[in-house]
Amino acid sequence: MSEKSAHFETTCVHAGRHVDPATGAVAPPIHLSTTFERKPDYAPEGYVYGRSANPNRDQLEACLAALEGGTTAIAFASGAAAASAVFQSLKPGDHVICTRDAYHGVLRILREIMSTWELKVSYVDASDLAALQAAVTRDTRLIWVESPSNPLLKLTDIAAVADIARRADAYAVCDSTFATPALQNPLALGMDLVMHSTTKYIGGHSDVTGGALVARESGAWAERLRFLQGAGGAVPSPFDCWMLLRGTATLGVRLQAQSATALSLARWLEKHPKVEQVFHPGLESHPQHALARRQMRGFGAMLSFNARGGETAARQATTRVKLFTRATSLGGVESLIEHRAAVEGPESPTPKQLIRVSAGLEHVDDLIADLDQALA
Ligand SMILES: *Cc1c(COP(=O)(O)O)cnc(C)c1O
Repeated sequence: MSEKSAHFETTCVHAGRHVDPATGAVAPPIHLSTTFERKPDYAPEGYVYGRSANPNRDQLEACLAALEGGTTAIAFASGAAAASAVFQSLKPGDHVICTRDAYHGVLRILREIMSTWELKVSYVDASDLAALQAAVTRDTRLIWVESPSNPLLKLTDIAAVADIARRADAYAVCDSTFATPALQNPLALGMDLVMHSTTKYIGGHSDVTGGALVARESGAWAERLRFLQGAGGAVPSPFDCWMLLRGTATLGVRLQAQSATALSLARWLEKHPKVEQVFHPGLESHPQHALARRQMRGFGAMLSFNARGGETAARQATTRVKLFTRATSLGGVESLIEHRAAVEGPESPTPKQLIRVSAGLEHVDDLIADLDQALA
């Protein structure tokens, strides 16, 4: 059976991996060497220098390309580095349309780093397709969306955005970190590029920082992004790549289990007297539940909710948890909780009574008991 025709869980375990021909090792060896012997005529052949390419990085990239159904995967030292490379591939004067509720670190890259690159950026609510279309100009080169978004779990109609981008002759990029390749494949919906913070579900154990881009088509843009990886130098270490490849093996089953837990928590929270509103795409009350059903294979393991009693009540609940860990980030096996506005800082547009939850792999009843005592 080829990897292409295999089910997702099978691809998770096998893509990018092979038994080591030198030793028969089933788990891949880690290649720490930063340099590789050259042929007598110095012709570039095989591996040359660690920043340019490394066997562990190649294995990870082959795996990620297979999981997203892309031609080219490019791994970076963090999600922020992957996003930076995307914007660095543009020219001064190019126009970018970015969803208003993109990850706060992506917005910061555009506002505080790429501003000196003289990119022109319009921020729109990407769930409003008419507003997105209206923001297109002659210079629009790239549309950046994130779905589901952080921390309000808003969805973007990915196929519709891809269509707008195609007609504008612009690249369409989706930050699909919250969905992971287990639940959503933006390239199949017409996006040109999908971005992941592999720090989250792909690593899956809160112990490695990384990012990745996967391009639908090979070609000049994918080559430019590949160049920015090696020449820009924000590359993941061989050990990071090894850890990330190990994480992908369980991605399918982790997402099934963690998404089921998140939906149960969301349903339970929706009935709780101390909770005002719950945000999770799997809830029938979510305004884009139908879109979630259309473009996702599951609803994900992230949820957020507004506590009754404002900021004080929300902050208090996050200090009372015993099983949840009060920490930022997401996607690990341990459940995390945070007062999101406190993490994002004074400029944060996030509602002050909002609590964000990353559902882990604990038993759902234990998580419910912990939230119940924390909200009491
Ligand atoms: C964490 C995150 C990022 C940034 O990734 P890092 O690995 O922290 O650099 C980007 N987008 C989303 C949606 C994220 O959750």
